[in-house]
Amino acid sequence: MPEKDSIIIRGLKQNNLKNVSLDIPKGKIVVFTGVSGSGKSSIVFDTIAAESQRQMNETYTAFMRGRLPKFEKPRVERIDNLSASVIVDQSRLGGNARSTVGTISDMYAALRLLYARIGTPYAGTASYFSFNDPNGMCKTCSGIGKILDLDIERAIAPDRSWNESMLGLPAFSVGNYYWKLYTGSGLFDLDKKYRDYTPEERNLLLYGSREPGGPRAHKRVEGIKTQFQRLCLMKGPEEQNDRTLRKLNQFMEQRPCPACRGRRLNEKSLACKVAGYSIDELCAMEFTQLVQVLQTIRDPRAATIVEALTASLTRMIDIGLPYLSMDRESCTLSGGEAERL
Ligand SMILES: [Zn+2]
Repeated sequence: MPEKDSIIIRGLKQNNLKNVSLDIPKGKIVVFTGVSGSGKSSIVFDTIAAESQRQMNETYTAFMRGRLPKFEKPRVERIDNLSASVIVDQSRLGGNARSTVGTISDMYAALRLLYARIGTPYAGTASYFSFNDPNGMCKTCSGIGKILDLDIERAIAPDRSWNESMLGLPAFSVGNYYWKLYTGSGLFDLDKKYRDYTPEERNLLLYGSREPGGPRAHKRVEGIKTQFQRLCLMKGPEEQNDRTLRKLNQFMEQRPCPACRGRRLNEKSLACKVAGYSIDELCAMEFTQLVQVLQTIRDPRAATIVEALTASLTRMIDIGLPYLSMDRESCTLSGGEAERL
């Protein structure tokens, strides 16, 4: 094969590769296959793609280069005939519980506008249909649609006392921060096993006290249930490097919000209808059905919005995602679905 028709790699020692030399034909589909850890990614991503990107970035001005991702020169004796690379990876979209197919695609923004313009009874501006806005969100779940509940029985060892590290969490072990906070409150008998607690004592442990304990104690406690819930809600999973928080998360259960029943918005916003549906009902529809409902809207004030939304939805259907709905959480999309979105 003439040399220019191939990418030539000689003496590659990137990552775990031991002096690998190979020619990769250009203009053809080439598959790298092998067991995990055999070096497929080291060749494809860390060598070919990285070097191609690096060479391309060198053609930009210093100002631009400072703003582009940095690529290390791969450990290779020689690499020739590279062309510009495009990396299509299967990484997930990520995003948190506030990010849905509707919010990342901007289709939900158009839908909110539609409800603000022609929804009845009138509920307010577009912000009243956003579960990420205080105007629209359900107050109980702050617009997440779910609440975190602590399965307390799993966090407490019933046959242990405070002095025996009753709570199976690092920060609550004898002598540690929270252990000192609670045992120093004077509110608890430190040798009493949890199963021997009276209902009042259990209540105190779970939900805390507004009054200080004994005469020598001046601290009140928040209660572990309240405290855990607050701690877990405040920090996203990626921030939970703390061993106690990670452990705590195993005891947390996600349940649909009892106030909005998972619909994320407050009552007033949910009562507003277009074409006989509330906004969360349209969000729960598969794209194919949603397009059909939109076609029934005849109000001229909505014409441009309906047209734009229909165009977006038709695109989604055409690229093979007719079954998606706007309320689908973006973190649950597969790599392929995320890619197309
Ligand atoms: Zn709610």
